[in-house]
Parts: sequence; C-alpha cells; structure tokens
Amino acid sequence: MLKDEFDRRTVLAATTALGAAALMPARAGAQTKTPSVGATLPARGEFVIRGAHVLSMDERVGDFAVGDVHVRDGAVVAVGASVTAPGAAVIDGHGMICMPGFVETHWHHWTTFLRPVLRADDATKTYFPVTFALGLHYTPPDSYRSVRLSLAQALAAGVTTTHNWAHNVRSPAHADAEIQAMRESGLRGRFAYGCPLGLPNDQPMDLADLARMKRDLAGDPMLTLGICSRNVDGSTGGTRGAIDAAMAKREWGAVRDLGLPITLHTSGSGAIKLLDEAGLLGADLQLVHPLNTEAADWAALAKHGVRYSTSPLGEAARPGDMQFIEMMQAGVPVSISIDNVTAEHCDCFACMHMLQAVNRHRTGGKFKLTTKKLVQMATIGGAEDLGLAGKTGSLTPGKRADIILVRTGAPHLGEIGDPYDALVQLAAPSDVDTVVVDGRILRRKGEFTALDYAKLLADAAQSVEALKASAKWT
Ligand SMILES: [Zn+2]
Repeated sequence: MLKDEFDRRTVLAATTALGAAALMPARAGAQTKTPSVGATLPARGEFVIRGAHVLSMDERVGDFAVGDVHVRDGAVVAVGASVTAPGAAVIDGHGMICMPGFVETHWHHWTTFLRPVLRADDATKTYFPVTFALGLHYTPPDSYRSVRLSLAQALAAGVTTTHNWAHNVRSPAHADAEIQAMRESGLRGRFAYGCPLGLPNDQPMDLADLARMKRDLAGDPMLTLGICSRNVDGSTGGTRGAIDAAMAKREWGAVRDLGLPITLHTSGSGAIKLLDEAGLLGADLQLVHPLNTEAADWAALAKHGVRYSTSPLGEAARPGDMQFIEMMQAGVPVSISIDNVTAEHCDCFACMHMLQAVNRHRTGGKFKLTTKKLVQMATIGGAEDLGLAGKTGSLTPGKRADIILVRTGAPHLGEIGDPYDALVQLAAPSDVDTVVVDGRILRRKGEFTALDYAKLLADAAQSVEALKASAKWT
C-alpha cells in the first residue's frame, strides 16, 4: 500500500469515527522525517562488577552476599563469589545490589511527553481525553520524541526491557519512528504494533505493514514484534475502539498466521468469556489489567496458557479488585507493567510494594507472596511473559548482560537487612546507580553515559506545543 493511500484512509477513518470536526490534514509545516537525537550507544566492553550483593534470579546460579559478575561482548560470562577476569575493567559493587534489569510488560510510550498537558482534578484534562485529542495529530517525529523521552525515564528507573504498547500507530512512518527510538535508546523490548486512534471498529489494523515490519525486524538482536489489539469486550467503545468477535477472529487470525503474539486490555468485564467462546485464547496472548474477571475466566486462562500483566499503580485507582492474586492462584503467570507515566511514574519498586500491600489488604497474607517472588515477577517473570527468558531476566552465564546496580546507602535504605525486602519495601528509582543493557553501560553513577537528556526534553516540549496548536487545545 502506498503511504499516501494509507494516510488518506487514516484521515477518512478518523472522520468516520468522530464526525467531520475531527478531519484534520497533516500538520502544516510539520516534519515528516524523524530527526535523530543521537544514535551512538556506548560500546560493549569487558568489565567485572566486584563486591556487590548479587541476586541472580536464577536458582541454579544462586545469590551471593558478596559476589562478582563478569561481562564480555554483551553477555554474562560468569557469576560467583569471586570471579577471575584478568584485563576486565572493574566496577566497584560494594554497597550495591546487583540484579537483572527490570522487565516491564506494557507501556504506552507514545503518551509520555503529554504529561504537562494533563490535570489530575479536571476530568476534561485527564489521561484519556488528552491522549485522544492530541494523539490524532501526531507526526512521526512526535512519536519518536515521546518514545525516546519515555525510554530515558525507563533507563533511569532500572528498566532494561520494555513492551512498547503502541496503540496509536498512525502510519507506517509512525511505526518506523517508534522503532527508531527504541533502537537508539539501547533498550531491549517488544514493539506491539497497534491501530491509529479513531480507526473505525469495522476496519482491521494495517496488516500489510505489520508483515513489512516483521520482515524489517527479522533477526534483530534487541527488538521483537507483536500487536496490541483494540478492546474486544465491547463495553469501552470510546476512544480506543472496541471490536467484535468477528473482527477479532479476522484480525488476530492474520496476526497469528504471521506467528506474532497479541496483547489486549481487559479492564472491562466479559472479554475473557467472549474470547474463550470465540476460540481466541492461546499461549501467544497477553492480557492487561486483571480487573472484573470471574472464576470461570481464571480457569480458561490457565487452561490456554494465557498470561496477565498487572499495572499496580494505575489499577489501584480503578474500580474493582486487583485480581493478580486470583490469577496466580489459578496458575496464570503474572508480570508487572508501568502502563503510562503521565499520572504515575516509572517505579518498579513501588509496583512491587503495591502488590505486596494489596495482597495483605485483600487476603491478610493468606496468599503467600514473598518479596523474592515479587522481584522475580519484575525480572524473569516479565522476560517469560515476553518470550525473552532465554536472553534476559536473570544473571545467568550465556544470557545477555541486562544488569542494574541499586545503591543501598541512601537515608531511606540505611543499613539493609534482607535485600529482597529492601528492594520491595524501601528502594526507589533514585537508588539505581548503574544500568547495563546488552553489555552497554547506559547509566553510571546515576547519570546517562551517552544521552543528551536536555535535548530530549527540549524536543518534547516543542512537539507538545505544536500538537496543542494543531488540536486547538487550551
Ligand atoms: Zn495500557
């Protein structure tokens, strides 16, 4: 399909869905080519982290109260109480917890830079109205800038793998812009290709471009591909779209023919029953927001190997119980996600703490959810969810080196006891000292090593002002 044809179709779609008032040409004078902020990443070298409290998240490797991690050419070479690594640069790990980077499993990076537009106590300016109104006007450079800013925040908070839930891909160029931002950030992740906001519910996503993207990403060492579906529960028609079972069968069938995984929001009720009856549940499906589900749903999910991603900071503000407990009791794997950072921040420590607190609040601690289990959910559990456990999620020799060092000297930590308790109950993103992804040191001593963050912020502000003008937002 020619790009112009796609653009016309997209605009037509938005018009059909929203009425003539939504018809908007491409932004006058807007850039369509995505300018790069800087694609140069630090080289992968050879180094050894010495003297850290090592939490490998691999039972075969174990933990070390004082231990070393040796990294060479992007891979973990050795983990142990004392590792020989002649010639390797030494990173002093004393006073630090050394662990795998966080693997979060659902995040709408394209919305991140809209944060300054939102207002918590004005219902017309909260997440959904703002992201929809301005989202219709995104150019590819806008997508690029928001994703880059967002991934900088991810890195600073110790997230080394992300599931980019891109549910506003307005054209193939927008998809390319998000991929470019992911590549240049240096993070590992999955790109979940979605529909443009406003696409009529009786039209499928751009399956031709999805196939093109699959070819583009074939063999990519850092990025994988999937889709994020519109809702199928039919109860949240609104701004994000809601397709029926027939469209889900058609769209998901084509996606599955490409061998790609699917992710879906299910915050409303009824989606799982509908999917089960339509024969659409499968081990390639990740659901997001375990709320408003029923016992029959849990059994169906376990039977079909479906996984769930919970975003505790946002879900705590929604109606209904947070049902990660029911899912885990039924045998449904649960991972942890950030969702968006417009009204909460990227804080995997707080996510784990929230799950611990909600479990105690709801079950009085009858459901056993240890701090170690919570750290597993935020690391290897996320990697398993995204099909990346062979590469990341634990400090295992042979896996890629996705590592964080969490400093334990801040006043809110002081002298720590159990390191898992400290990570879940006390630590904060500001304690993340060093971040390594695929053997590249992207953060060191709490600073970016190769990123002009001020430039990211300035570019983001420029895009947001242009979007507000284009959308006539006041
Ligand atoms: Zn979401």
